[in-house]
Amino acid sequence: MRLLLIEDERSLACALETILSDKGCLVETVYDGKEALRAASAGGYDAIVLDLMLPKEDGFSVLKKIRKSGDVTPILILSARAEVEDRIQGLDHGADDYLTKPFDPQELWARIRAMTRRQARLPDSLLSLGNTVLNRSTHELSSKHGSHILSNKEYRMMELLMIQPARMVTLDRLREVVWTGEENVDSSVIWTYISYLRKKLKALESNISIIAIRNTGYSLEVGDDT
Ligand code: CA
Repeated sequence: MRLLLIEDERSLACALETILSDKGCLVETVYDGKEALRAASAGGYDAIVLDLMLPKEDGFSVLKKIRKSGDVTPILILSARAEVEDRIQGLDHGADDYLTKPFDPQELWARIRAMTRRQARLPDSLLSLGNTVLNRSTHELSSKHGSHILSNKEYRMMELLMIQPARMVTLDRLREVVWTGEENVDSSVIWTYISYLRKKLKALESNISIIAIRNTGYSLEVGDDT
């Protein structure tokens, strides 16, 4: 599970990183509201843990902007603010859960799992573009002409491309999300995976094309449905 942790308190962020990494999460941490929005808009996370009192842009504002962009990633608010009004405001603005500090890390982990399970059951777990659908629970890429189960790397790539199809996904972003922890991944390796995806799209008679932007990244283009 890829997790975006937004927490400006360094010692807490560090402790959470350790605990959640032990559970098998790939944790990316940012320390202010502006960085949080940048990371969230790049996409590719299974869940977001969001502190409310943040420098540069507060958590409520970050939450509102993420939801306004159409991003449905499950978000858990982590906050020292225990008032009922804050909880209501958080949930009203599109958070999936709210946990008050101090908290038990085991409870945080249980809630993250619960919220991602709920997400997997929602119709939102289908990403749809043109005549093609990506199922985020089963990793199946399909059209009316057939379906393919994608390998893990192919899936991560396709998901990143389909989340915000008009936006270019840079080679660096692909390295970060698809080849997490691996160093010096050559652009020819990325290209190879893109070519696997292109073959599968072609076999599905998909009207989505993966467009290469020379030495920079990839984006999707939707053509006519034949
Ligand atoms: Ca804080």
